[in-house]
Amino acid sequence: MDEIEDVGLIEVVIDAPAAGAKAKVKRKRPKKRKFSDPASSYAKRLERYRPGLPRFMLDALATRYGHPQWERRLDPTSELILTILTQSTADTNAEVAFEALRQAYPGTGEVQAHHPGAGWGGDGLPDGVAPDWGAIEFAPLAELTDVIRPGGLPNQKAPRLQSTLRRIREERGDYSLEFLGEMPAIEARDWLDQFDGIGKKTASVLLLFSFGQPLLPIDRHVERVMRRVGLLPPKATLDAGHDLVLGLFEPDDLYEAHVNLIQHGRKVCHAQRPDHEACPLRTRCRYVDPKAP
Ligand code: SF4
Repeated sequence: MDEIEDVGLIEVVIDAPAAGAKAKVKRKRPKKRKFSDPASSYAKRLERYRPGLPRFMLDALATRYGHPQWERRLDPTSELILTILTQSTADTNAEVAFEALRQAYPGTGEVQAHHPGAGWGGDGLPDGVAPDWGAIEFAPLAELTDVIRPGGLPNQKAPRLQSTLRRIREERGDYSLEFLGEMPAIEARDWLDQFDGIGKKTASVLLLFSFGQPLLPIDRHVERVMRRVGLLPPKATLDAGHDLVLGLFEPDDLYEAHVNLIQHGRKVCHAQRPDHEACPLRTRCRYVDPKAP
């Protein structure tokens, strides 16, 4: 009679020996690991070669920057428009352009306070009402371009603002994006990702900051630190990276990971002359030691 011994991934079949004969052991081939998605596959591979690295990074950054707490910074449509205005420019310039929209196209909603949080590179917007999105969508393009000119790249951003607002209205009937908070994070990100000029980063910023959705936007600071430490594969595109990093952290840790990585990229791990001596990640950073554990 055969006995089957279950040893996890491998089933061992043992033929019961006849009296005096040697037991014949047949090993079934190890079951092929099946990963549900590239993110968990990558997380498991990294864990095998560099155990505990994501947790180490979170804890080390927290010693310096603490545990930032999520708080909604703006309504989601304002967050999206402000994020588009930050593309390829400093956050302070985006604030100037957003404030110019408020002045040129005043809205009639509630006064909002801007809670930019520690990762934001500007001063924060003054309290104010969201602009009149309809007026922006239908404004003459040349006029809108002039309004946002102080924020930089107006020729690129003015048509992008209008096409984004147009598409939201055509698909939803108004300009509200509150419905995204009810959708699963990846589905909501995919919905936004179809818009011209909105990639996974911009979509993730909106969903993380407006709803606390479990996503990790990878801007240039986050990317630099993660690649240097070795948490992002060197050749992974940013598009793929946005998916891969989701397997590294618990959903509840993604906000802290994003905010503290941005702070670290701004304050310590500069593009030029990073301050390794002051860095709590240096013992496990592959940029300073290619064999770091
Ligand atoms: S050790 Fe240097 S390169 Fe590595 S994360 Fe710290 S500052 Fe950046």
